[in-house]
Amino acid sequence: MSANPLPFVDLKSQYARLKPEIDRGIQAVLDHGQYVMGPEVIQLEAELAKFTGSKHCVTCASGTDALIIPLMAENIGPGDAVFVPTFTFTATAEVVMLLGAAPVFVDVDRRNFNMDLEDLQRQIEAVKVGGKLRPRAVIAVDLFGLPADYPTLQKICDADGMLLIADAAQSFGGSLGNRKVGSLAPVTGTSFFPAKPLGCYGDGGAIFTDSDEKRFLYDSIRQHGKGVDRYDIDRVGMNGRFDTIQAAVLLAKMTVFADEIDKRQRVAKAYTEKLSDVVTTPDIPIHAISAWAQYSILTDKRATLIDTLKQDGIPTAIYYPRPMHLQPAYRAFGGGEGSLKVSEELCQRIVSLPMHPYLDEPTIDRIASAVRRAVQ
Ligand SMILES: *Cc1c(COP(=O)(O)O)cnc(C)c1O
Repeated sequence: MSANPLPFVDLKSQYARLKPEIDRGIQAVLDHGQYVMGPEVIQLEAELAKFTGSKHCVTCASGTDALIIPLMAENIGPGDAVFVPTFTFTATAEVVMLLGAAPVFVDVDRRNFNMDLEDLQRQIEAVKVGGKLRPRAVIAVDLFGLPADYPTLQKICDADGMLLIADAAQSFGGSLGNRKVGSLAPVTGTSFFPAKPLGCYGDGGAIFTDSDEKRFLYDSIRQHGKGVDRYDIDRVGMNGRFDTIQAAVLLAKMTVFADEIDKRQRVAKAYTEKLSDVVTTPDIPIHAISAWAQYSILTDKRATLIDTLKQDGIPTAIYYPRPMHLQPAYRAFGGGEGSLKVSEELCQRIVSLPMHPYLDEPTIDRIASAVRRAVQ
């Protein structure tokens, strides 16, 4: 009875569009054989830096590495506080824990799901009054693709000498005013996981900065802490390089990436027009462009909605079912139930609809009418 099942993210249509370029790019790597740090990696870093308007791009093995490497470069560790939103993917908090530093969870703004800057200031004050931890860094997450308020975040960080890191795993391709993600914070980390706006065919990530000194450190850390000579080990690093084959895939995808970001705007606009009277739709500030990694709505009838759509072959996803401060792994660092109320409420009411650049009008109509049927 149900119509043909839809994908949540349609990577097949994208491959169909780019098959000759992608196949040729991968074949070229197989032919030259420089699988690690090959010429495609160097070319991609130059292209990505240019695309974002950032001076440097350092690719790495994942979006998680793109966050931990900048923290390692600052020697962040035991005794240090790193402020992170509680409504995010686990990696944002995980990197802080891996270095023995303390994540300090911050609530989010119910309108746009990004960090609540008033709550951030409260949490910074509490850490300072507590006197046990040094405030060292803020990792702001561009949730679902919408860039955080970096100008305000920078002022807050400057007041206490903290480093501002953008977790742009979901927002690559987005912008604020005339500045693109990658050039909005002193350090930006992004992910090339297949389902992200710019995804490769495996794991990958990149770090962006204007600082020559930071670029040198990030490049060293991703290659086992190498010095100017590769057999000098100047610091503790990791094997955090990006594969050449994956760089070839992204070089092909970059030829259509700006067009895909435009297409995502059209899909999001259509969803909002068809749904804003029956559910809470995302609120995007006028000077911002979201990369629309996810299109997420709020409803009190989530279970019914998910069920109705499922029967119609339409997949949904819950990002996120539980805030980080209530996860078993991080609970000891949070204030428990009721401490970050907006995030806790969002986890009960949020649901994401299929989102990718290749959603056509009839399919958007089909999804929107199923949502309307479910909630009315
Ligand atoms: C996906 C994601 C990451 C981690 O990226 P990986 O490439 O999977 O390691 C970090 N932060 C956020 C917000 C993410 O969505």
